[in-house]
Amino acid sequence: MIARKHSMDLKGIFCRKVYQPLLHRRRGLNVRLWEERFRNFEAMTPEALVSHQQDALLIMLRYAYLHVPYYRCLLESGGIRAIDDHVPDISHNIPILTKDIDRDQEFQLRSRDPELQQVHQNMTGGSTGTPLNFCQDADYRAAALGAERCILRWWGIEPGDRTTAFWGADRELHDWTLREKFMMWLNRENIFDSFAMSEEKMHSFATELMRWKPLYIKGYASSLHLFARFLLNHKQFSIRPLAIRSTAETLFDFQRNDIESAFNCKVFNFYGSREVNNLAAECVEQSGLHILAGSRILEVVDANDNPVPSGQVGRLIVTDLVNRAMPFIRYENGDLGVLSDTPCACGLPYPRIDKVIGRVSDVLVGKNGQYVHGEFVTHLFYGSRGIDNFQLIQHDVNRIEIIIQGVPDNACPDMALIKQKICDRLGTVDITVRYVDGFARNSSGKHRFIISKISPFQNTTH
Ligand SMILES: [Zn+2]
Repeated sequence: MIARKHSMDLKGIFCRKVYQPLLHRRRGLNVRLWEERFRNFEAMTPEALVSHQQDALLIMLRYAYLHVPYYRCLLESGGIRAIDDHVPDISHNIPILTKDIDRDQEFQLRSRDPELQQVHQNMTGGSTGTPLNFCQDADYRAAALGAERCILRWWGIEPGDRTTAFWGADRELHDWTLREKFMMWLNRENIFDSFAMSEEKMHSFATELMRWKPLYIKGYASSLHLFARFLLNHKQFSIRPLAIRSTAETLFDFQRNDIESAFNCKVFNFYGSREVNNLAAECVEQSGLHILAGSRILEVVDANDNPVPSGQVGRLIVTDLVNRAMPFIRYENGDLGVLSDTPCACGLPYPRIDKVIGRVSDVLVGKNGQYVHGEFVTHLFYGSRGIDNFQLIQHDVNRIEIIIQGVPDNACPDMALIKQKICDRLGTVDITVRYVDGFARNSSGKHRFIISKISPFQNTTH
């Protein structure tokens, strides 16, 4: 844990002690309870944590058997008629649930428990063509906030510290209403659109951040890196947070080096997804990510679904031990990872994952020189009819190629709109569309959705 040199100002204390607890209470979220639970996990021995994990798995399996048709059917087809005090070996009894969940499975995965309250709908962001609709209960959301508070403390950040986010999910980022702006002010947050990071916009971000003096900055690795490169070229801006969280994308070493040197502070890698958040995070040692094993199970398996030994790359399989509204048990989220078997010098009992090889997106370059985050494009394809997979290649500033898989009649009905939106953002460019039956994977096994041959921020690691 990083020792703080700052004492918190009065607005921060108000936010932490009054505003946030009231907000949580109003939303029916027992964040304090979960924060205490996560602190207890941190104080456990690794053996006690494994034992807790097994207990929590047993509870989740019993629940899923009773209330979730999908898992009841799976368990019964594996010969399990009831779940007693013996935890079944999930790797033998529950096949992996992949992202190709059809609408019927989506429905069958939902809990039928009439007692369950406060269920919120969510949907996948990221890079898949078909969005997955799922639901999360109040416990899930309270646990997410409790876990986040504990992780922030590893990095020396307290709730109520001034925060800046480089964010860019379409439906989360719109013109803020006055009420939303007021709530962000109370919550001590400001947000910048990472889909629109021109030199000019970064100039105004930097000027604003000089005034705001954030203690904590979070964002996509590529957005943070873009902004860090800007700061390294404009030394008049000195922004000195206590910690930076990189999330949602692979954080490459070249990006971490630039970001740490631009802000003169450590960058911590954080791993989660919309379906199951708070999976793992780096501690101050920055040597791999600690899996939040009190509330999640992470398996790493090979092409035949067998566990791979530590140190070897495999597919990540996630089990959420908290959300009962739509349990994810052995869910393959599409990322690859490498487990570590050595203890960490920080003393946390959580096991570690050395590396997460997530989806990779490049930064596109607009005709006006503006950098556009590749996720801007992946968001355009969410929910577009009939698209199973896609790839966008920016050959030069005037030419883009889109390759589509999964449209049987060779005509994607939403393509005109997608093209229009790309031109709105990048300037009028020549866009050709090609339809294919499938894509070859690159050497790391990951599909690259966005490739820019002119981006100055390409890396050579994929
Ligand atoms: Zn550690």
